Order: sequence, then C-alpha cells, then structure tokens
Amino acid sequence: MPIRRLSQSLINKIAAGEVIERPASVVKELMENSVDAGATRIDVSIEAGGVELIRVADSGSGIAPEELPLAVAAHATSKIAEADDLFRVGTLGFRGEALASIAEVSRLLLRSRTADRQDGAEIEVVGGQASDVAPCGCPVGTTIEVRNLFYNTPVRRKFLRSTQTEFGHVSEAFSRIALANPQIHATLRHNGRSVFDLAGSQSWLERIALVFGRDLADNLIAVESSDGAVRLFGYVAQPTHSRSNNHMQYLFLNGRSIRDRSLQHALGEAYRGLLMTGRWPIAFLWLDMPPEQIDVNVHPTKMEVRFQDSSRLYSQLLSTLRAKFLTTDLTARVDSAQMDSARLASAGTPSASENDPASAHDDRHTDRLRQQVVDWAKGKLASFGPRSGEAAWSTGSRPAGPPAAHQSLELTQLSRSWTSDAAEPVDEEPLPGPIPELPPGGAGVPGAPGDATQAFGTRALKALQVHDRYLVAESAEGMLVIDQHALHERILYEHLRERILAGAVEAQNLLVPEPVDLAPAETAAVLEHRALLGQLGLKIEPFGGDTVLVTGYPAMLSNLSPVEVLHALVGQLMSGAKLPDRRDLLDELLHTIACKAAIKAGDRLAPEEIASLLAQRHLIGDPHHCPHGRPTALLFSREELDKQFKRI
Ligand code: ADP
Ligand code: MG
Repeated sequence: MPIRRLSQSLINKIAAGEVIERPASVVKELMENSVDAGATRIDVSIEAGGVELIRVADSGSGIAPEELPLAVAAHATSKIAEADDLFRVGTLGFRGEALASIAEVSRLLLRSRTADRQDGAEIEVVGGQASDVAPCGCPVGTTIEVRNLFYNTPVRRKFLRSTQTEFGHVSEAFSRIALANPQIHATLRHNGRSVFDLAGSQSWLERIALVFGRDLADNLIAVESSDGAVRLFGYVAQPTHSRSNNHMQYLFLNGRSIRDRSLQHALGEAYRGLLMTGRWPIAFLWLDMPPEQIDVNVHPTKMEVRFQDSSRLYSQLLSTLRAKFLTTDLTARVDSAQMDSARLASAGTPSASENDPASAHDDRHTDRLRQQVVDWAKGKLASFGPRSGEAAWSTGSRPAGPPAAHQSLELTQLSRSWTSDAAEPVDEEPLPGPIPELPPGGAGVPGAPGDATQAFGTRALKALQVHDRYLVAESAEGMLVIDQHALHERILYEHLRERILAGAVEAQNLLVPEPVDLAPAETAAVLEHRALLGQLGLKIEPFGGDTVLVTGYPAMLSNLSPVEVLHALVGQLMSGAKLPDRRDLLDELLHTIACKAAIKAGDRLAPEEIASLLAQRHLIGDPHHCPHGRPTALLFSREELDKQFKRI
C-alpha cells in the first residue's frame, strides 16, 4: 500500500479509540469540561448504560455561538496556547480533542449560552460532520447530548458490556469527579431514576458521606501533612473498614482523580500489620502541589501522571499515615450483630466490626477534638523518643557475653527497661479535665474527648489470664479481650521498628563471637544483607567458607539464641530479591523477630508480667493488631454487654 495521509475523520477516530473507550469515558470528559467552565451545578442523565444517551448539563460559562464549530473541532482548546503551558496546566482538559473524538463516534448535540446573551446557540455533529450553528433557547451554561455511542464503530460497540456494567463505570466516573469537586451540586440519573443527588458542600467529608454512606464516613481518620510546597490531606479508613480490592483508594491531585502505583504501595505499607492479607485499605487522599512538579501529559485520559520527585511523595504519605496511626485508637469493636453470629457459630470468634453504630457527633467538632488529642498524644509520645529512650533501653539488659540459648522469658525485665524512661507512665496520668465547649475556631484549647480514654486509658488496666493465652481486662469502655502473643508481638515489633528508624537499636557485642554454619547460598545472602542485619542489631562477620560469625546481637532478643535468629531470618533474606524494596525486607525481618521473641499462647504469665504487658499497651503506637493482621484485642462495650444481658 502506498503511503497516504490519513483523513481528519480517521485521525479523530483513532484519537477516539484512545480517549473514548466506553460511555463512562464520555461522562468523564464532559463533566471535566463542565468543571473547567466553572459550573456550580452538573446534571448527568444516562439511558441504557450510556449507549442510547448521555446528557451532561452544566451551569458553567457557556460557549459563544461563533466558537461552537471550534469547540467540536479537533485540536481546538481554550485552555492552553503554547508548549510551556503544558507544564502549568491548571484545568482538567487541555488537549482539545475530547469533543471532536466523541462527535466522531456518536450523534452529538451541543447547546450553549454565555451570560451576556439572551439566546443560546446549538450545533449538531453526526459521525464527525458538523451542522451549521443555529440559535436556540436555553439557560446559561452548556448542555451536551451524546446519542448512539459507537454507532459507526461496530467493533468498539461489540466490546461494551451489559447495561448494568457500563452504568457501573459511569457511576464510578461520576463519583470521582463529584468527590474532586464537593462544592458542585452534582446529580446522576439512569433511565429516569435518580441515583445521586449531591448537594454542594464545603466539607469533603460530607461529600464522601453522601457518596459512600455515613457508616464509612464515621469511620475515617483525618490525615494531613505538608512537605515544602506539597500538601497532603484527606481521610483513611479504620482497619475495620477495608475492601477485597484497591478500588476504594481515591487519590486526587490538584483536583484531578489519578491512579498512582507507588502511592498505593505506600498506603498498603502504612496499613501493614493492620489488615488481613488480601484486604486493602480505603482512602481518600488529596495532593496539592505546584503544577510544574507534575507532568500530566503522559497518559491519554490523564489517569496517570508523572511526579518530579515520587520517592519523596512516597515517604511523605507513609510517614504521615504511620504517625497518625501511632496516635489513633484502632481497637476492633464487637457489636451485637457479631455477638449473635458468634453465639450461633459456637466455635466462632467475633471479628472486627464492619458497621459501627453511626455517630451523632458533629464531624467538624469531633475532628477538632481529635486533632487536640493527637497533639497532646504527640507530646506524650515524644517523651518516648529515641534520645531519651536510648539509655533506658539498656537498663536491665544483660551484661555483654553470649546469651544462654533458650533463656526463660524476660518479659518483666524487658518491660521495665522500656518504661523506665517514662517519668510518668501515660496510663496513670489523668487527662486534662472535662471537655470544655470550644469557641469557634478554638485551636489550642486544652481538652480531650472520650476517644483519648480509649486510646490511652485514664487508669491502669487489671486483667485476668484465661487459658494461658488471653487476657481479659476492664477498660473505661467495657471489656477487652487481648491475645497475649499478638499484643506482645506488636509491642516488640513497634519498639524494634522505632529503634531502627531512629538508628538506635541496642546491640550487645558478644565476648565470644558465635560461629554459624550455613548453606553456600545462605552465606551469600547473609553477607549481602550484612548492613541490613546490622540495622537490626545483628552483627555478622565473614569467617571463611560457609561459616559466618555473629559478633553482636539485639539486646531485646536475649531470650533467643543468635543461631536461632539468624536461621529464622535467612529464608527471608534469600527471597528478599522478590520484594519490591529494602524497606519491605526490613519489615519482614522485623515481623519474624517480633514473632519469635514474643511470649507464646500457652505461656503462663505472672501478675507482674501481665501488668507490664498491659502497661505497654498504652506506650505502643498500634496495639490493636499483631503484625500478621490478626486483631490483638477485641472490645466488648459496656453498652453491648448490657444489651446482651437484657439490661437495656
Ligand atoms: P479541552 O477540554 O481539552 O480543551 P474539549 O474537546 O474537551 O477539549 O473541549 C474543547 C473546548 O470546548 C474547550 O477548550 C472549551 O473551550 C469548550 N468547552 C467544552 N465543553 C464546555 C463546557 N461544558 N462549557 C464551556 N466550554 C466548553
Ligand atoms: Mg475537555
């Protein structure tokens, strides 16, 4: 075939293939145009999943009659003028090809009126052929109707799924834009039935509640941080609310809904140990940053963008969430529905609740109070920081020398060494008085809601050990059932992790280094990861052949032998290459160490041991789940107990 120039129509069809995949893509493009036009209201009507009709009506700026032909022409846009503009895009659109692409594969009718005119004007495009512009009556704003999508591209049409599936995608596209623009009144109808009617709101949480329901909104944790010109804020769900896929991870960048694998990974990392394997966190996160730090022109539908410094963003997200979780109560609650099912399935253990009772609190009030608690708690936690902790860490630890293998449990001793830097243990310090009514914008007013007593307790817990594996304790809220192994594992994990992050793991140098024989591949892996092991306090030297020497040893693991620890870690080091990054490997190692070192189910504990274990519960960031994702504690609220015993 000779080389030919493609016709404009064919070029548009090819472009349409990239941008317009299904009805939902049309909805996205049209709604984005409405947002760019400054609309305060957008009404979307769909017939038959969008194949019959998609109508998007907005109250935006409108288009002047003489510009209508350009609006539907390819590569015509009012949003950028020169190449440099590409790097400071402040609008959702800029490629000037959406309307032309849609019009190429459908019958498109565009009616529009600007505020300075009495009448509007319309233009119709059928399969890419535009009519003349004709006057028409219409309100200020723009209405676009797209009928018979893909009528002239049968292959594309064949790829469409059922009406319900297509509408599902439409609904998702609608929700994303509605979430990104809470101030806009947005409605969605399908076959004449109202699906969403979202009144404009200044509150993002309110919009989330309207789209996803009150229960989820009541179980979100507000997060916020700034790093240079980058501001991150939004909400992440309590671990009780998770999904079996990552579809509920909403990320918005300067008002644009995007997907970003690296940030999703950071999100998963932050929840590591809080969720069961196969469960995904729910998040609504918003990033604001200068447009010149992003390239949005890397993906036809702009779903993915390129960040100038994506690893810095990764760290910002991870550390923001981690810090937040450290000061948030994540105890799994048990509600009556679950108690019922637990009773029915006699061997069943109640699991974390999916439906907490709806809170009647005013969100903003609660948020403000929560922030105060967080600030207060941060101050508290700071006193357990790496500096002051360092000396205390060694208090009560063993003198240098090879630790005896299988030494008996040193829980109390360990515990004491952890707490001794805390001049006043948190659990014994009463919280600042009752909550005063806050004046409007009353930042800095001391106060603490009931939340805090959950998280940090106002008195020491007493507990009974049952079956040598659970601790049953009274808390301010009700009754706690704690898994002793899971809690201890979590405590050790958090402590070790904090030490590592602070570069302050206490290692004991062995007077007589301990030789360990390994398989050749194991030796290689251990030596390759020597630095990493060193971070954990495990010091390794090559000894020649397939023998390595353990010369130093994490002080907190004195109840295990070095050989045991090394053997436990070797397997993970060998598979380390498969893990995405070093952080993951370190985390895996931490989990193993914590699990190995923790007291086991079946260990009978002395009263002091129980007491110190419970005391730790208040000093450690996330006492609620062991690193494997099982809950560490179940809370039976007093109200729940009263209900079950038919007192109320
Ligand atoms: P882009 O959004 O990339 O500029 P489009 O093909 O989506 O390209 O739209 C072309 C032009 O038509 C826009 O630049 C804008 O000037 C105008 N336009 C489209 N939709 C609307 C609308 N709802 N309200 C006002 N102007 C619009
Ligand atoms: Mg556009």
